[in-house]
Amino acid sequence: MSSHGYHVLILGGGVAGLTTAMALIKCAPPHLLPKVDIFEIRDEPGTVGGAINLTPNALRLLDYLGVYQIIKDRQYGITVDAVEVFSVYSHQKLAESSFRGPNNQGIGSPPYKAIRITRASLMHALIAALSDHPNITLHLGHRAASITETSTSVTVSFNAHPPHTGDILLGCDGVHSFTRNHHVDPTRRQLYTGVANAFGFAPLSASDRAAAHFETSALNFSRHGLLLTSYHEPTRTSGYVGAILATPDVGSREGWRARSIDRDAVRRDVMGRFGSEAGCVLPSVRTFIEKAADWFLWPVYMVPEGGTGKWATGRTMLLGDAAHAMPPQGESTGIVLEDTVLLARCLLANQLLHDSGSSDSGSSDSGGSTGKDDSVTVIKEAFDAYENLRRGRITAACKESMAVVHSVAATGKWGFWLKTSIAIPIFLRLGQAKRIRHFEEDVTTCALGFGEQMEQNRLVVVPTAGVKGVVSSVLARMGDAWRRGGLWRLLWMLVSGRHHWLR
Ligand SMILES: Cc1cc2nc3c(=O)[nH]c(=O)nc-3n(C[C@H](O)[C@H](O)[C@H](O)COP(=O)(O)OP(=O)(O)OC[C@H]3O[C@@H](n4cnc5c(N)ncnc54)[C@H](O)[C@@H]3O)c2cc1C
Repeated sequence: MSSHGYHVLILGGGVAGLTTAMALIKCAPPHLLPKVDIFEIRDEPGTVGGAINLTPNALRLLDYLGVYQIIKDRQYGITVDAVEVFSVYSHQKLAESSFRGPNNQGIGSPPYKAIRITRASLMHALIAALSDHPNITLHLGHRAASITETSTSVTVSFNAHPPHTGDILLGCDGVHSFTRNHHVDPTRRQLYTGVANAFGFAPLSASDRAAAHFETSALNFSRHGLLLTSYHEPTRTSGYVGAILATPDVGSREGWRARSIDRDAVRRDVMGRFGSEAGCVLPSVRTFIEKAADWFLWPVYMVPEGGTGKWATGRTMLLGDAAHAMPPQGESTGIVLEDTVLLARCLLANQLLHDSGSSDSGSSDSGGSTGKDDSVTVIKEAFDAYENLRRGRITAACKESMAVVHSVAATGKWGFWLKTSIAIPIFLRLGQAKRIRHFEEDVTTCALGFGEQMEQNRLVVVPTAGVKGVVSSVLARMGDAWRRGGLWRLLWMLVSGRHHWLR
């Protein structure tokens, strides 16, 4: 049997689903080009949502996938030098989270700042980039009914469409993931975080802009929650306002829908917590809330044990929110993009390694990594390598995201003063080095441990047989562990006993 690319099924056509498909095509060597089918439950790709922050690591990966150029060409989003932090009771800036980097060019090499962009614009750019890839098919209006996995394949059945069978299934179907709840780990169901997100877009005049207390994006704390005010496109004629509000669970999807429909009630709730009757002295906070049309309210869910729970079976892997949805912490999209590019590289590098190994040995019947008998082992090895590289980062991000939930809980006067004058500035200052390290991390080039190299963005594997190969592989992994987390991560890697990198 001759080598061929994987047939990959992806459930969910959101950020994770679309970027995984592109990453698989992007780094595959020509003879192992995968065929990718994406199944999205909606009849149209989901282009609704608020404005999200794309951090430097997110932009690096979108650039790698060819999406950033589309964003720039279409003038989507606005560059963010720093997210400034305010208390609504004072004009004085408390702190900021900066993306300026050492020379005001951004962070990393090459440097990137951040972009605030509507989720709708990001989805449009992703879909435009997808149309360049003949090997990717997006099937809309597909609701999964069941998933069956055997040692040789995985099959997804749909309610109103024929079933599809492939080598691998990637569950990119978001926080309420069918793949997780009905196949990978039905015990790890999504939980309401106790916070809801209310948002809207406000038309802005020149005088509104002149009165703004912030440059591009600001987090404004009150004693009753956290409110983001931001521009999200270059003309600054529209503003985005989004509030994170501690809110009791309404109990059902219908209940939340009913609350969301009453848009004036949502606006009144936000105004009551952040407007002048709540003591706010920042005029543009009031303007943004008053002018925002079509207020939208959605409950924020998370997946418990995001960093430690089960992500995979033999042929199925969860990615993005399906694996580890966490409360909003300003870096979610970057984390999702890291997942998708890293997993694509692991799958292809291991496939290539086995493929070159089987060609070297003259084997004619294994079909390289996709020979049906051994392919599940090869896929599982790639999954294991991915999890090994990824769990530390996700565990840390989940922990940090819980701090956001605590930071929006209602507080008294003194608690609020302590939080905004001491805790938040110290948290941001002490965490800045760590954040920069994350933003600099480049999962397009980090060592995977398969003896892989990148040539013109495509993977090639240099088999690491012999002492020299083993030593260079181990050194690459040690260097990577050091860059990613310093001494503790390096020690953990050495003692954790996962020796698949010793090839
Ligand atoms: C409509 C929408 C609006 C959002 N708005 C915001 C926002 O304003 N701010 C913010 O920070 N985050 C928002 N998010 C979440 C944010 O996009 C995700 O947290 C992040 O991008 C992770 O991406 P993901 O691809 O893992 O998950 P998601 O972006 O949630 O994508 C999952 C995709 O899977 C699809 N899907 C779900 N179930 C199935 C199924 N059974 N079969 C097939 N497809 C399925 C969904 O329709 C969706 O397209 C929104 C998500 C959605 C779906």
